[in-house]
Amino acid sequence: MHFLLTTLGCKVNQYESSGLSAELERFGFKPAFGIESAAIFILNSCTVTENSDKKTRQLLNSARSKNPRVITVLTGCFPQAFPEKARELGADIICGTSKRSELLALILSFMETRAAIDKITDLPDTYEEFSVFSTDKDFSPNSGRTRAFIKIQDGCDCNCAYCIVPKARGNPRSRPPDSIRAEAEAAAGAGYKELVLTGINLTKYEFGLYEAVSIAAQFAERVRLSSVEPDLLTDALLEKLAQIKKLCPHFHLSLQSGSDSILKRMGRRYTADEYYKKVQKIRSLFKTPAFTTDMMTGFPGETEEEFVESLGFARKAGFSKIHVFPFSARAGTAAASMENQVPENIRRERRNRLLSAADEMRREFLTAQIGRTLSVLVEKRTSADEVFGHAENYTPVKILSKTAQKNDILSVTVIKAENGFCVGK
Ligand code: SF4
Repeated sequence: MHFLLTTLGCKVNQYESSGLSAELERFGFKPAFGIESAAIFILNSCTVTENSDKKTRQLLNSARSKNPRVITVLTGCFPQAFPEKARELGADIICGTSKRSELLALILSFMETRAAIDKITDLPDTYEEFSVFSTDKDFSPNSGRTRAFIKIQDGCDCNCAYCIVPKARGNPRSRPPDSIRAEAEAAAGAGYKELVLTGINLTKYEFGLYEAVSIAAQFAERVRLSSVEPDLLTDALLEKLAQIKKLCPHFHLSLQSGSDSILKRMGRRYTADEYYKKVQKIRSLFKTPAFTTDMMTGFPGETEEEFVESLGFARKAGFSKIHVFPFSARAGTAAASMENQVPENIRRERRNRLLSAADEMRREFLTAQIGRTLSVLVEKRTSADEVFGHAENYTPVKILSKTAQKNDILSVTVIKAENGFCVGK
């Protein structure tokens, strides 16, 4: 039987989808090429913005209209955070972000009984084991990627004013180091040279981020951190992390705003100045580090002055990439009921202004790579003369080479910067 698995959202959701897909394939199901040929449609949803909920509704309705006989499975953050709204969508099987390892059994049970299954449960207090790669299973998924995500942490209790994630993912829970070791070894054994440690709030990893990176570095040639919260990234931790030469100097350091008054109202746990000091600390410890970030526009009460301050700070920090989100009120968060909600058109106008500043910063970052020698993991061949990959600091590079293979790690000198990537030889 064939299944179609669609994933919305973050690297943790993608990791869990890979694990689910591997589970189904181990059992004998096959990935479908399209909804028309699928017996089962699984939607692993996200609920970070109103838009993601809209997408979830559209994808489910479209699957059913294109293939009325398909079994529909709705899982992930949307049903966990908004169970009633999710139930209205009428999926055959519905469950949240916990008990992912039971989804195969639920599908088999539904295929037998055809009775709708509602398995949205409270979130656990301990880390739920669910791996993608494993040495004791005779099948390791080959996602065709050159880097493997390894989930090490789940949940968050920071309760930033705009964020629905704690409701969808629960309290912080950490994966035991031995379990990480087993999966890192299996992923490296499956040929992955880069391991990306991921979690909902990595800096809440209770066994220590340094320990987790050290473990992964025993098996991989490169270790990357998905995203980290600035407040928990202490100088002492940074000094220890800098000793691990395999750690990629690319930090996705979530900022959200560069205005202290906004950061305060958001309930973020640092000032713009403290954030900047963190960036400078990393620059003093790592060779040619790169910083990417998330920023929000139009947070309730945001004045033009506060926005301009935030924009100015972003330029000062010099990000290589900024993911920009216009504020989206999530029911159940503090920000949703705050006064002075910024009109939608203002939120979007400010998003566009920040995006164009971000493009400028990206061009400056790529230009600054010219003349540098970078280590690039080849992801694909783009023509007879060229391959493409990402450097340790996540610079996208096209490499002039007739012989390089996917998964090679090459030392490349950057000769020019073009639209969105560098060219090297
Ligand atoms: S740190 Fe804040 S923004 Fe990030 S997941 Fe936790 S509550 Fe959400």
